[in-house]
Amino acid sequence: MKQFIYADNAATTRLSEEALDAMLPWLRNEYANASQPYAFARKPKKALVEAREIIAQSIGAEPNEIYFTSCGTESNNWVVQRALSDCTYKHIVTSAIEHHAILNVCQQMKDMQGAEVTLLQVNAEGIVTTPSLEKSLTASHGLVSIMMANNEIGTIQPIHDLAEIAHKKGYLFHTDAVQAVGHIPIDVKELGVDFLSASAHKFNGPKGIGFLYIRKGISLSSLLAGGAQESGLRAGTENIAGVVGMATALKENIRCLCSNQKYILELEAKLIQLLDDSGLTYKRNGSENHLPGVISLSFPGHDGEAILHRLDLLGICISTGSACDSKNTQISHVLKAIGADTESAKGTIRISLGKSNSITDVESIADALKRIIL
Ligand code: PLP
Repeated sequence: MKQFIYADNAATTRLSEEALDAMLPWLRNEYANASQPYAFARKPKKALVEAREIIAQSIGAEPNEIYFTSCGTESNNWVVQRALSDCTYKHIVTSAIEHHAILNVCQQMKDMQGAEVTLLQVNAEGIVTTPSLEKSLTASHGLVSIMMANNEIGTIQPIHDLAEIAHKKGYLFHTDAVQAVGHIPIDVKELGVDFLSASAHKFNGPKGIGFLYIRKGISLSSLLAGGAQESGLRAGTENIAGVVGMATALKENIRCLCSNQKYILELEAKLIQLLDDSGLTYKRNGSENHLPGVISLSFPGHDGEAILHRLDLLGICISTGSACDSKNTQISHVLKAIGADTESAKGTIRISLGKSNSITDVESIADALKRIIL
């Protein structure tokens, strides 16, 4: 197989060996439908219970607060479409730098249900400030949805403080934690959020499986109607292999969270040092408080797309912005929101390092950038 350097971990991550091994029995022999009453279905039923416990524990939740979904997009859509279904007036407050899995469903809610959508601007580091949120909460109720960590620039939001403000004003609070779960410590009770979205493929789990945390006592009607799975709130035959793989990958990442964070931050520091030593002119986007390994770099006067393709020819995978946006050649809405000028935005790439990267990878990336840009 062709050897390449994968530095696009914010787009997706490699499936962990532990997760793959844990999944295989459910794909091979233990294929019973967990909803069936016979003995053959007992093991998958038990596997679901155990996976739910592991996932709940990983984020400080209770098992009955975890609902399995097909991906982060579904979790986000579920909250935005259903959180205010009992209200005639729907006010949704979100930020200008959310993933399209939030922005587009908010737009749908506006177009199809007449919801009022407020897009909060962020500061130059990509942070939603508490005064800006407070000012926007003008109704007696509504939904606030702010991502925990940004997928393009890595900025981590002050979720605890934002959730507190939302609650004081009678709003529900959701966080899209797709980039954060499995990478930074998360305790939903300490954060005080009502809903939290996650996706397994971002933390070395399989693709096509995610979960939504719904705080006990909050009612959220189902998005997918049908069977009685997931306490009647999310219909569809359970993806046992996916759920088991997700729980195994998350448990593994949580077990190694501190060492992974330390290691990835060391790789990141090395890359920055090599770039600085090389004399390249660039600007790093985002905030000091960011996801380890997410490195957004602007090279004014250069074309990010061209850099991506030249790196690709050298066997290096990176991104220009959000992976889900690779067909969209417009300037990233995130870079626009943090005030990047058109030239800088066009010359921006995202390198996202993960636990499988090595110092040699980082040296090769720095060397390649020097060859391309200098
Ligand atoms: N939210 C954020 C912040 C993301 O980065 C992504 C994927 O890149 C998503 C949501 C969508 O997740 P999924 O691919 O599981 O639908």
